[in-house]
Amino acid sequence: MKAKLVVLFMILSMLLFVLSACGQDTAPTANDGSASTNGQDQGQSTNKDTETKKIKIGMSIDDLRLERWQHDRDFFVQRAKELGADVIVQSANGDDAQQLAQVENMLSQGVDVMVIIPHSSDAMAAAVDAAKKEGVPVLAYDRLINNSDVDVYVSFDNVRVGEMQAEYLVKQVPKGNYFLLGGSPTDNNAKLFRQGQMNILQPYIDRGDIKIVGDQWAKDWQADAALQIMENALTANNNKIDAVVASNDSTAGGAIQALAAQGLAGKVVISGQDADLAACQRIVEGTQSMTVYKPIKLLATTSAEVAIDLANGKPIKTQGKINNGKIDVPAVLLTPIQVDKQNMMDTIIKDGFHPFEEVYKNVPEDQRPKK
Ligand code: BGC
Repeated sequence: MKAKLVVLFMILSMLLFVLSACGQDTAPTANDGSASTNGQDQGQSTNKDTETKKIKIGMSIDDLRLERWQHDRDFFVQRAKELGADVIVQSANGDDAQQLAQVENMLSQGVDVMVIIPHSSDAMAAAVDAAKKEGVPVLAYDRLINNSDVDVYVSFDNVRVGEMQAEYLVKQVPKGNYFLLGGSPTDNNAKLFRQGQMNILQPYIDRGDIKIVGDQWAKDWQADAALQIMENALTANNNKIDAVVASNDSTAGGAIQALAAQGLAGKVVISGQDADLAACQRIVEGTQSMTVYKPIKLLATTSAEVAIDLANGKPIKTQGKINNGKIDVPAVLLTPIQVDKQNMMDTIIKDGFHPFEEVYKNVPEDQRPKK
């Protein structure tokens, strides 16, 4: 009898084992933090049929005071909600210590995945470490996080952004005095933009066609910092500046204020980036030459989908890898678009990024393009 019972017990145990093995999920769990990737994939988005459980996402934003990040937040939260996830958003107002504290706070609230737009690409490695300790995967949004085990990087081709800025300017002014107005020195993207700008400018400099008359970086991408830098540059060069390589629209705005004070707005070519409303208005009014439009909705929705897949331990489709000083980070890089007065209608307006009436509000009606 005892022997029969033992055999029965063994059969039952085997049956249970087989049943539980059948039900097991073979995808990596969220806790191992790994994003399995396929370096060959060229697609720009990821699995759409994402959610399997209610996911809580922590979104840590460097600085919501700059217009662009408000768009990012809104599109991201909207897509995440559509996919059934909750999002906690916090902005650090450009402060590293505060950003780290906010990430730690979100981790203590039990988020399943962290999405970080770092103020400092170096300092936020500590936030990635903190997340990893909790088994929470991290997506670096728009800006890379250096020297860390960040799981995935979703951004634009930022070197290409810098090339587009300089390409536009050299077409307008192939010879002359150029001033380089860089972005925040703590932002890895600012360095990539500069790299792209120099890819284009260097041959002109080597030929002696372009002279770099100054090179400064604006703290925290602030317009005020750019205004001051430009005022000083104009004074130092007796106003003899033909082109300003501004790395984004907020710094272009500050520089254009300084140019306007000298009666030079519209006479000096100047680049930008982000297609901020104020920049689009300046472009159609003629005081800013161009901007680089990065379809933020695509970045935000792609990131929301990737974040949820990461949290669910699903594989992510990426397009190769970018080294962050520690590892090769799987990356999704989207394509930027050059915008000036000529293609404003076909890009910003057509995409609904800003309404026609807003962009052209200071342009007399008879001088506006046909809708
Ligand atoms: C972004 C730019 C933005 C800048 C300032 C960069 O990292 O890529 O689009 O203008 O930060 O916020």
